[in-house]
Amino acid sequence: MYTRILRINSLVATTMIAVFGIASRGRSALWAVSAFSSVTPAKPKQHIFARPFQRGGAIQRELSILRASVADDTELATDKLAKTLEVTHPAYEVLKRDVVTEYGAYCSLFRHKKSGAQLLSVSTEDDNKVFGITLRTPPEDGTGIAHILEHSVLCGSRKYTTKDPFVHLLKGSLQTFLNAFTYPDRTCYVVASQNTKDFYNLINVYADAVFHPRAIKDPMVLAQEGHHLELQDKEEPLVYKGVVYNEMKGVYSSPDSLLMRSAQRSIFPDNTYAVDSGGDPTVIPNLTFDQFVDFHSRFYHPSNSRIYFSGDDDVLQRLELMDEYLREFDAAPETVDDSRIEWQPKRYTEPQRTVEYYPAGGDQPETHSLSINWLLNDRPLSALEELTLGVLDHLLTGTTSSVLRKTLMESGLGDAITGGGLSDELLQAVFMIGLKGVAKDDVSKVEDLILDTLRKVSEEGFTEDDIASSLNTIEFSLREFNTGSFPKGLSFMLGSMSKWLYEESPTDALKFEEPLQQLKDEIATSGSKIFQDMVKEMLVENMHRTTVELAPSKTLEEEQAEDEKRRLSSIKESLSDSDLDKIIDETNKLLALQSADDSPEDRATIPSLELSDLKREQAEYPIAVSENENNSGVTVVRHELVSTSGIAYVSLAVDLSSLSLDDVPLLPIFTKLMKETGAGDYDSVQLSREIGTHTGGISVGLMTTAVYPRGADESVSASGENMQTKIVISGKATSEKIDKLFLLFNLMLTDARLDSKAKVVELLKESRSRLESSAQRSGHSVANTRMKARYRVGGYVDEITGGVSYLNTVKSLIKLAEDDWPALLNRFENLRKTILNERTCRSGMLVDITGEKKVLDTIKPSLDSFLDTLPGDASGEKLTDFYKEVHPWVPEAKKRMAELSSETSEGFIVPTQVSYVGKAGLLFKEGERVPGSAQVVSRFLRTGYLWDHVRVMGGAYGGFCTFSPFSGFFSFLSYRDPNLHKTLDVYDAAADYLLSVADTLENDPEALATAIIGTIGDLDGALSPDQKGSTQFQRWIINESPEHRQRIRDEILATKPSDFREFAERLKKLSNPSIAVVSSKAAFEEAAKNGKKFTLKEIF
Ligand SMILES: [Zn+2]
Repeated sequence: MYTRILRINSLVATTMIAVFGIASRGRSALWAVSAFSSVTPAKPKQHIFARPFQRGGAIQRELSILRASVADDTELATDKLAKTLEVTHPAYEVLKRDVVTEYGAYCSLFRHKKSGAQLLSVSTEDDNKVFGITLRTPPEDGTGIAHILEHSVLCGSRKYTTKDPFVHLLKGSLQTFLNAFTYPDRTCYVVASQNTKDFYNLINVYADAVFHPRAIKDPMVLAQEGHHLELQDKEEPLVYKGVVYNEMKGVYSSPDSLLMRSAQRSIFPDNTYAVDSGGDPTVIPNLTFDQFVDFHSRFYHPSNSRIYFSGDDDVLQRLELMDEYLREFDAAPETVDDSRIEWQPKRYTEPQRTVEYYPAGGDQPETHSLSINWLLNDRPLSALEELTLGVLDHLLTGTTSSVLRKTLMESGLGDAITGGGLSDELLQAVFMIGLKGVAKDDVSKVEDLILDTLRKVSEEGFTEDDIASSLNTIEFSLREFNTGSFPKGLSFMLGSMSKWLYEESPTDALKFEEPLQQLKDEIATSGSKIFQDMVKEMLVENMHRTTVELAPSKTLEEEQAEDEKRRLSSIKESLSDSDLDKIIDETNKLLALQSADDSPEDRATIPSLELSDLKREQAEYPIAVSENENNSGVTVVRHELVSTSGIAYVSLAVDLSSLSLDDVPLLPIFTKLMKETGAGDYDSVQLSREIGTHTGGISVGLMTTAVYPRGADESVSASGENMQTKIVISGKATSEKIDKLFLLFNLMLTDARLDSKAKVVELLKESRSRLESSAQRSGHSVANTRMKARYRVGGYVDEITGGVSYLNTVKSLIKLAEDDWPALLNRFENLRKTILNERTCRSGMLVDITGEKKVLDTIKPSLDSFLDTLPGDASGEKLTDFYKEVHPWVPEAKKRMAELSSETSEGFIVPTQVSYVGKAGLLFKEGERVPGSAQVVSRFLRTGYLWDHVRVMGGAYGGFCTFSPFSGFFSFLSYRDPNLHKTLDVYDAAADYLLSVADTLENDPEALATAIIGTIGDLDGALSPDQKGSTQFQRWIINESPEHRQRIRDEILATKPSDFREFAERLKKLSNPSIAVVSSKAAFEEAAKNGKKFTLKEIF
């Protein structure tokens, strides 16, 4: 549970599946390709750490600082929160009142008397309010029933009668989170908003949807979201369609997912975790409507639900609102027994082995993956045991220097780690670890290495320094509780659910002070022993262990496609003529239903905000810029916030413009070396330990962003030839540890050990492996990066540092490192020398700090001496002003881009069962005015037309578009798409659709308002303190004025139907449109038959 609340920040649970996109952050990962990230065509400052939480030594002392900020809060607020514990309601009985002091959360657990529902009401000061309904939904087979129902529930209900109220909410609410997830044993429906009226609107729609969905009355929903047979012409073959069907085909195309799923099955042979709640594409078509309805009636009953509220809204109103939905149900205790998750006994007397296969492409090297998996417990764990496990997991795998991770990577037996260590979000905890990219003959060597390492650990234990480092890392993050844009209340809910779902106390699960103290006491008296005992009991001597090996198959992809074809054709043969007519009829009925607009009456059932509910002012965050601070030559940027809990968030940016373009592709690996290979007197393990013991984490990344030229008119599209290009070292620490943070920054910058050939090869191989799997899992983003590179220099730089070209670079660097290491080392050393040029480097340095006043004051002397010790001459030359001059990479980049731009249709082949289809161009040419309304229209297109045509009708998991007002770049993208050329046709018809919509909107002010509200919602997300600082920093570095932002907001609010028309005209004439698609060889061959030709390239 402890690691689970922390990991939420980076990935959410590995085992969960969401209704759209990957269930991360408020704007889910799909959105990451659109909205804000494309305003600055660059990677923003990296505040996301793989394991984002580290913290320092003098535990008790620092602790008091973090607590002090909490105590600073007015007593009044605390009083108000405490009062919420007195609230009662006649329809509910109180089961428990509790205060989780760790998070200032005042909790009441109620039981709704009539229906038996449990409701946890959490009052905090957070205005980002969260609501969730969680149901225990253990599946019994691989039909994906729980997952398909999760999707389907959101497609209309008794009170809210549109086809897709969920999409309506996506389009036009201020939600900060709106999604649903399926776990192996539960289904969660979650909404969040900072606006109270909006919040209650969202809750009403979700509550009605869960208990009274259209899906259990109308089989069309199952057909659309789950599976159906499609046929439009009797001569054509039958086709399987369905959103979840294709979503899961995408999942089953990824070797990483295959390994993980199979690993889970292998250690839970007897209980519900043995089946895939997401659904196996070969089994999904077996799901019948009767089973589907039955599953809903069995598990979607209030007695089997856990309802959650958190935030600063009124408790009585929460109870009142839910009573309206609950009171029509009578308690059904049998659903509780029916849904209870059985414990999987640790019953293996010897380790088990299985071999599974993954589809490997033509020229792809035939490597194997494996994962060793342990079932850790078959009885409940104590809070102390859970925390100890979390720390142990960090000791073994938390950083690249952790013993198990390091040993595996340094063995050279494989390319990247699999399994990810501890996973404890379900009833029982598991530990999985292994390697991918392993030669066939080395599989058993990897197995031996893992087991030997664990045995050694159980005998020799960990050093005091290692333990302090890991413990502090976990503690820092527990206290900071920084969930980024992910609502804190949701993190809290998911944390409580790890106990509540299994009928234990929801609030006990969140308290960490007591077990933390127990663990510290235990370590103080007997050192490493508690960890050694645990390794011995749960891993070394635990025979309930499996090894899953994933072997390559060159024929699997074809076999799967053939199987599906055979299955479909035998179905077709078995059908009579009239059966076929019936399928054609149903196909047409479904399409007609999907393409029909909701009636105004139906639409009126969905509660919505009005334009007058929106804030007119664009939010700005504090910023103060001090050039040449203390005559250091360095610019310091500060963001003074009300509270950062005693923590300083600091970034140091160092200019890269003196590098030649040829060296730019080396930067991603160079930034890794800065952190991973040790620096100065520290070897890699010592450096990692220092970071863990004294700071809250350090990361190194690249920031390359196009900027507005000085004095430029920000309302017109920019050329992107003025750029800022920096290496950024970011970290966080409490103010008393700031000296250490600065010292480490300086060491990593000037004295990183670049000369480790083995480490460089290891990092390169890991990068190759990561890039290849991302092409398979997120082909849309590969396609988008490629297309951007054809139009804008910033896009080109992204491509050569993270796209397909970068993958090729990595492959050639692996060869160079192995064949001529001195040459590569020389390049790295020169790169550093060039960046740290004595004369100019100070002028290109920026230090960005976010903190509360006390923090900023306290760290001032440390900052002064840090500035003193930085490399470079304080009174050296001024760097070229890139807000005036074109960036030096631009001329050469444009030459090389010419080659890319001549490609108008590229196809990238990967082994997969689905496609990722992209088409792009410049909607606005350089110097053309970009109105704020363009953001409304592009969002409208994404959540309306593309959602309906690519996802709902096309059967893809996602269909969307991205638009950058800065560069004018516009792209269409699809995600896990069963179609290829048909999707391109959908894109091509978008402009005409918008033209017709413009006419409709003239007489439909509400639909227009919906589009505007949603766009404003995107601008007003909930931010953590460090995000407020980094947002304002980004705005500053791209040279965007507050007046411009306000003007854009005003224009968004004033969007008219004619703006849709104008946008449509532009889309029609999209400048130099081009296409990039990631898909299988077979799909490209099929497309060629339909007249779509591509220049084909193998990615692997
Ligand atoms: Zn899904």
